Amino acid sequence: MSQPPVLHVHGSVTLGAGREVGEVWVEDGVISLTRPSGLSAETVHLEGYAVPGLVDVHAHVGLGPGGAVTGEQAREQALADRDAGVLLIRDAGSPVDTRWMDDDDALPRILRCGQHLALPKRYLRGFGRELELPSDLPAAVAQEAAAGDGWVKIVADWIDRDHGDLTPLWSAQDLAGAVAAAHAEAARVTAHTFATEAVDDLLAAGVDCLEHGTGLTGSQIDEVVRRGVAVTPTLLQVGRFDAIAAQAAEKFPVYAARMRAMHDRRYQHVAALYEAGVQLLVGTDAGGTITHGQIAAECAELVRAGIPAADVVAAASWQGRSYLGFGELVDGSGADLVVYAADPRTSITVLRTPLAVILRGRLVGRR
Ligand SMILES: [Zn+2]
Repeated sequence: MSQPPVLHVHGSVTLGAGREVGEVWVEDGVISLTRPSGLSAETVHLEGYAVPGLVDVHAHVGLGPGGAVTGEQAREQALADRDAGVLLIRDAGSPVDTRWMDDDDALPRILRCGQHLALPKRYLRGFGRELELPSDLPAAVAQEAAAGDGWVKIVADWIDRDHGDLTPLWSAQDLAGAVAAAHAEAARVTAHTFATEAVDDLLAAGVDCLEHGTGLTGSQIDEVVRRGVAVTPTLLQVGRFDAIAAQAAEKFPVYAARMRAMHDRRYQHVAALYEAGVQLLVGTDAGGTITHGQIAAECAELVRAGIPAADVVAAASWQGRSYLGFGELVDGSGADLVVYAADPRTSITVLRTPLAVILRGRLVGRR
């Protein structure tokens, strides 16, 4: 491949918390805070407000409404995320192996949870890995941890059709064994949870992160803060709870009522998480029913819940990167940047239209 031109990003460049500079250069894939010697006429100048590449901590690459998708479709999903400014994805569970994507420099970086773990009839068919027995969880977690990129995902609660409501899939003992097995492999554990009932056991087991978290009570929120557990509110997904409730209302009225109530209080709930000091992560839950490339819409939802735009941008950018171990940008960092025409910290809608996307030092998208 030919050497890409040197990029000069100027205006306002935020590298991390409270670290703002007027300009950076990008050469040989890395960020330089000083002007490189011998700049050629080929240098591309990009003016605007730049932030470190965005992070979607909850997306499913390789998953569509009917389950697994083809490799070509999975690639389109990753490109849609990239063009929206997402240059790092924590894959929250995929039925297909997307490891081949790591060799494609045009695609965002993906940290995989492996397959998310569930039980037969206790999750969407064809989405996760269904274990025969709940007690198989710790061994399965160890396998997924060994195969993944430092994360494992457990489906902690789902509708139990015999019960007509959300119930936990696993015992406290299963969960404790599972988290210990993941930590022994140096992997962190995140858990899908809509309900209240699974949360105490997840927290006691030492879970690292919660997805959705719609059922958290006030005292559980306090415990989440005390333990330093992060939460991904997935407001685009929770915004669909009323549609899920409508579909289920006839057969499962108790479940439907619960889903509708969580839908109706979703913004107050997320505001309560924020006010309590929970570390919030930004995840779209793309794949399955939600299309890829919607990080800006998820950020706008978080602002609608009352979180200041500046905090949402931080969570979607440098804070999210740090949480996943990628750190803030420094002189010499790999150059993953997104440039906007205006400051997204004052106007969140700007996120919808990046001026330029720089991945691994290359301009991959430009308006
Ligand atoms: Zn998901």
